[in-house]
Amino acid sequence: MSHRDFAMQLDWLQANFDVVSLEEAQRRVRSMHNDRPTVAITFDDGYAENSQTAIPELVRRNLPATYFVATDFMRTGNAFPHDRQRGVELQPNTIDDLRHYAALGIELGAHTKSHSNCGTISDIELLRDEIMGSAHQLEQWCQVPIRYFSFPYGMPVNTSQLAVDIVREAGFAGFCTAYTAWNWPCSDGFHLRRIHADPGLQSLKNRLTLDPRKLHDDQKLPFEETLEPSGSHT
Ligand SMILES: [Zn+2]
Repeated sequence: MSHRDFAMQLDWLQANFDVVSLEEAQRRVRSMHNDRPTVAITFDDGYAENSQTAIPELVRRNLPATYFVATDFMRTGNAFPHDRQRGVELQPNTIDDLRHYAALGIELGAHTKSHSNCGTISDIELLRDEIMGSAHQLEQWCQVPIRYFSFPYGMPVNTSQLAVDIVREAGFAGFCTAYTAWNWPCSDGFHLRRIHADPGLQSLKNRLTLDPRKLHDDQKLPFEETLEPSGSHT
Protein backbone atom coordinates (compact mmCIF):
# COMPACT_ATOMS: atom_id res chain seq x y z
CA MET A 1 0.00 0.00 0.00
CA SER A 2 1.37 3.41 -0.92
CA HIS A 3 1.78 6.19 1.64
CA ARG A 4 -0.89 8.16 -0.22
CA ASP A 5 -3.42 5.29 -0.08
CA PHE A 6 -2.68 4.68 3.59
CA ALA A 7 -3.25 8.39 4.35
CA MET A 8 -6.53 8.32 2.39
CA GLN A 9 -7.72 5.33 4.39
CA LEU A 10 -6.83 7.07 7.66
CA ASP A 11 -8.66 10.21 6.50
CA TRP A 12 -11.79 8.16 5.89
CA LEU A 13 -11.48 6.21 9.16
CA GLN A 14 -10.99 9.39 11.18
CA ALA A 15 -13.98 11.04 9.52
CA ASN A 16 -16.31 8.12 10.17
CA PHE A 17 -15.09 6.18 13.21
CA ASP A 18 -13.60 6.53 16.64
CA VAL A 19 -10.08 5.17 16.16
CA VAL A 20 -9.20 3.60 19.50
CA SER A 21 -6.72 1.22 21.14
CA LEU A 22 -7.46 -2.51 21.37
CA GLU A 23 -8.07 -1.99 25.08
CA GLU A 24 -10.75 0.62 24.41
CA ALA A 25 -12.27 -1.54 21.65
CA GLN A 26 -12.52 -4.40 24.14
CA ARG A 27 -14.07 -2.12 26.73
CA ARG A 28 -16.75 -1.08 24.24
CA VAL A 29 -17.45 -4.69 23.22
CA ARG A 30 -17.72 -5.75 26.86
CA SER A 31 -19.91 -2.83 27.88
CA MET A 32 -22.72 -4.51 25.87
CA HIS A 33 -23.57 -1.13 24.40
CA ASN A 34 -21.76 1.05 21.88
CA ASP A 35 -23.38 3.64 19.65
CA ARG A 36 -20.10 4.85 18.11
CA PRO A 37 -18.68 3.15 15.01
CA THR A 38 -15.27 2.09 16.28
CA VAL A 39 -12.04 0.92 14.69
CA ALA A 40 -8.72 -0.27 16.14
CA ILE A 41 -5.68 -0.39 13.85
CA THR A 42 -3.22 -3.29 14.06
CA PHE A 43 -0.19 -4.47 12.09
CA ASP A 44 1.22 -7.99 11.85
CA ASP A 45 4.67 -9.52 11.36
CA GLY A 46 7.02 -6.51 11.71
CA TYR A 47 8.15 -5.07 8.38
CA ALA A 48 10.99 -2.54 8.37
CA GLU A 49 9.24 -0.39 5.75
CA ASN A 50 6.59 0.59 8.32
CA SER A 51 9.23 2.92 9.79
CA GLN A 52 9.15 5.02 6.62
CA THR A 53 5.43 5.58 6.15
CA ALA A 54 2.86 3.92 8.39
CA ILE A 55 4.29 4.56 11.84
CA PRO A 56 5.19 8.26 11.26
CA GLU A 57 1.74 8.85 9.73
CA LEU A 58 -0.02 7.29 12.75
CA VAL A 59 2.15 9.23 15.19
CA ARG A 60 1.59 12.50 13.29
CA ARG A 61 -2.16 11.97 13.61
CA ASN A 62 -1.87 10.81 17.22
CA LEU A 63 -3.72 7.56 16.40
CA PRO A 64 -3.31 4.48 18.62
CA ALA A 65 -2.20 1.20 17.04
CA THR A 66 -1.03 -2.27 18.02
CA TYR A 67 1.99 -3.77 16.31
CA PHE A 68 2.23 -7.59 16.40
CA VAL A 69 5.64 -9.10 15.70
CA ALA A 70 7.07 -12.57 15.11
CA THR A 71 10.25 -12.16 17.12
CA ASP A 72 12.64 -14.67 15.46
CA PHE A 73 12.90 -12.41 12.42
CA MET A 74 13.95 -9.34 14.40
CA ARG A 75 16.60 -11.48 16.03
CA THR A 76 17.95 -13.01 12.80
CA GLY A 77 17.09 -10.39 10.17
CA ASN A 78 15.69 -13.18 7.95
CA ALA A 79 12.67 -12.59 5.70
CA PHE A 80 9.28 -13.99 6.78
CA PRO A 81 8.45 -17.54 5.60
CA HIS A 82 5.29 -16.49 3.71
CA ASP A 83 7.37 -13.93 1.77
CA ARG A 84 10.21 -16.37 1.05
CA GLN A 85 7.63 -18.77 -0.41
CA ARG A 86 6.49 -16.02 -2.76
CA GLY A 87 10.08 -15.16 -3.64
CA VAL A 88 9.73 -11.69 -2.10
CA GLU A 89 12.25 -11.07 0.65
CA LEU A 90 11.11 -7.97 2.54
CA GLN A 91 13.23 -6.72 5.41
CA PRO A 92 11.90 -7.26 8.95
CA ASN A 93 12.16 -4.60 11.65
CA THR A 94 15.19 -4.45 13.91
CA ILE A 95 14.94 -4.70 17.70
CA ASP A 96 15.85 -1.00 17.85
CA ASP A 97 12.88 -0.21 15.55
CA LEU A 98 10.57 -1.92 18.05
CA ARG A 99 12.06 0.00 20.98
CA HIS A 100 11.54 3.20 19.00
CA TYR A 101 7.89 2.34 18.22
CA ALA A 102 7.23 1.53 21.88
CA ALA A 103 8.72 4.89 22.88
CA LEU A 104 6.37 6.57 20.37
CA GLY A 105 3.38 4.99 22.10
CA ILE A 106 2.71 2.17 19.64
CA GLU A 107 1.61 -0.92 21.59
CA LEU A 108 3.62 -4.05 20.82
CA GLY A 109 1.96 -7.47 20.66
CA ALA A 110 3.08 -11.09 20.26
CA HIS A 111 2.71 -12.98 16.96
CA THR A 112 4.65 -16.20 17.83
CA LYS A 113 8.42 -16.56 17.51
CA SER A 114 8.69 -18.21 14.08
CA HIS A 115 5.38 -17.11 12.51
CA SER A 116 4.09 -20.64 12.99
CA ASN A 117 0.72 -22.00 11.95
CA CYS A 118 -0.68 -22.61 15.46
CA GLY A 119 -3.57 -24.66 14.06
CA THR A 120 -1.19 -27.47 13.11
CA ILE A 121 0.88 -27.69 16.34
CA SER A 122 -0.31 -30.31 18.84
CA ASP A 123 2.87 -30.31 20.96
CA ILE A 124 1.80 -28.18 23.92
CA GLU A 125 5.33 -27.22 24.95
CA LEU A 126 6.19 -26.09 21.42
CA LEU A 127 2.98 -24.07 21.23
CA ARG A 128 3.70 -22.47 24.62
CA ASP A 129 7.19 -21.59 23.47
CA GLU A 130 5.89 -20.00 20.25
CA ILE A 131 3.14 -17.97 21.95
CA MET A 132 4.61 -17.07 25.34
CA GLY A 133 8.20 -17.04 24.09
CA SER A 134 7.47 -14.24 21.64
CA ALA A 135 5.87 -12.15 24.40
CA HIS A 136 8.78 -12.74 26.79
CA GLN A 137 11.26 -11.84 24.08
CA LEU A 138 9.46 -8.53 23.38
CA GLU A 139 9.19 -7.71 27.08
CA GLN A 140 12.90 -8.31 27.48
CA TRP A 141 13.85 -6.22 24.46
CA CYS A 142 11.53 -3.27 24.99
CA GLN A 143 10.67 -3.33 28.71
CA VAL A 144 6.94 -2.95 28.01
CA PRO A 145 4.05 -5.24 28.96
CA ILE A 146 2.84 -7.46 26.08
CA ARG A 147 -0.92 -7.71 26.49
CA TYR A 148 -2.22 -9.04 23.17
CA PHE A 149 -1.50 -11.92 20.81
CA SER A 150 -2.42 -12.31 17.13
CA PHE A 151 -2.51 -15.62 15.30
CA PRO A 152 -0.21 -15.87 12.25
CA TYR A 153 -2.30 -16.29 9.06
CA GLY A 154 -5.31 -15.71 11.31
CA MET A 155 -7.96 -17.90 9.69
CA PRO A 156 -9.97 -20.49 11.68
CA VAL A 157 -7.75 -23.32 10.41
CA ASN A 158 -4.70 -21.47 11.79
CA THR A 159 -6.08 -21.43 15.34
CA SER A 160 -6.93 -24.18 17.83
CA GLN A 161 -8.62 -24.53 21.20
CA LEU A 162 -5.28 -25.61 22.66
CA ALA A 163 -3.63 -22.41 21.43
CA VAL A 164 -6.47 -20.23 22.73
CA ASP A 165 -6.23 -21.97 26.12
CA ILE A 166 -2.50 -21.19 26.23
CA VAL A 167 -3.18 -17.54 25.34
CA ARG A 168 -5.70 -17.33 28.17
CA GLU A 169 -3.50 -19.15 30.71
CA ALA A 170 -0.52 -16.97 29.80
CA GLY A 171 -2.48 -13.93 30.98
CA PHE A 172 -2.93 -12.12 27.66
CA ALA A 173 -5.77 -9.58 27.70
CA GLY A 174 -7.05 -10.91 24.37
CA PHE A 175 -6.16 -12.18 20.90
CA CYS A 176 -6.78 -11.20 17.30
CA THR A 177 -7.62 -13.30 14.27
CA ALA A 178 -8.20 -12.30 10.64
CA TYR A 179 -11.69 -13.78 10.31
CA THR A 180 -12.90 -10.77 8.28
CA ALA A 181 -15.71 -9.99 10.70
CA TRP A 182 -16.98 -7.23 12.96
CA ASN A 183 -16.94 -7.33 16.75
CA TRP A 184 -20.34 -6.67 18.25
CA PRO A 185 -20.84 -5.37 21.78
CA CYS A 186 -22.28 -8.67 22.97
CA SER A 187 -19.28 -10.94 23.52
CA ASP A 188 -16.52 -11.13 26.10
CA GLY A 189 -14.17 -9.39 23.70
CA PHE A 190 -11.29 -11.79 24.33
CA HIS A 191 -11.32 -12.76 20.65
CA LEU A 192 -11.14 -9.73 18.35
CA ARG A 193 -11.88 -10.38 14.68
CA ARG A 194 -10.03 -8.30 12.14
CA ILE A 195 -10.54 -7.13 8.57
CA HIS A 196 -7.67 -6.75 6.10
CA ALA A 197 -7.01 -3.19 5.02
CA ASP A 198 -6.92 -3.83 1.29
CA PRO A 199 -4.97 -1.42 -0.86
CA GLY A 200 -8.22 -0.09 -2.27
CA LEU A 201 -10.21 2.43 -0.24
CA GLN A 202 -13.47 1.25 -1.85
CA SER A 203 -12.88 -2.27 -0.61
CA LEU A 204 -12.17 -1.05 2.92
CA LYS A 205 -15.32 1.11 2.82
CA ASN A 206 -17.34 -1.86 1.65
CA ARG A 207 -16.07 -4.08 4.45
CA LEU A 208 -16.53 -1.49 7.18
CA THR A 209 -19.93 -0.24 6.10
CA LEU A 210 -23.01 -2.02 7.37
CA ASP A 211 -25.48 -2.57 4.55
CA PRO A 212 -28.62 -4.42 5.66
CA ARG A 213 -28.92 -5.86 2.15
CA LYS A 214 -25.83 -7.96 2.91
CA LEU A 215 -27.64 -9.73 5.72
CA HIS A 216 -29.78 -12.79 5.04
CA ASP A 217 -32.72 -13.71 7.24
CA ASP A 218 -30.57 -16.18 9.16
CA GLN A 219 -27.79 -13.63 9.69
CA LYS A 220 -29.58 -11.19 11.93
CA LEU A 221 -27.41 -8.83 13.84
CA PRO A 222 -26.79 -10.06 17.38
CA PHE A 223 -28.23 -6.91 18.90
CA GLU A 224 -31.42 -7.32 16.87
CA GLU A 225 -31.91 -10.74 18.39
CA THR A 226 -31.31 -9.56 21.93
CA LEU A 227 -33.63 -6.60 21.43
CA GLU A 228 -36.52 -8.74 20.24
CA PRO A 229 -38.82 -9.68 23.10
CA SER A 230 -39.12 -13.43 23.43
CA GLY A 231 -42.26 -14.94 21.91
CA SER A 232 -42.68 -12.15 19.40
CA HIS A 233 -41.86 -14.39 16.42
CA THR A 234 -44.85 -15.20 14.32
ZN1 LIG B 1 1.64 -12.71 10.31
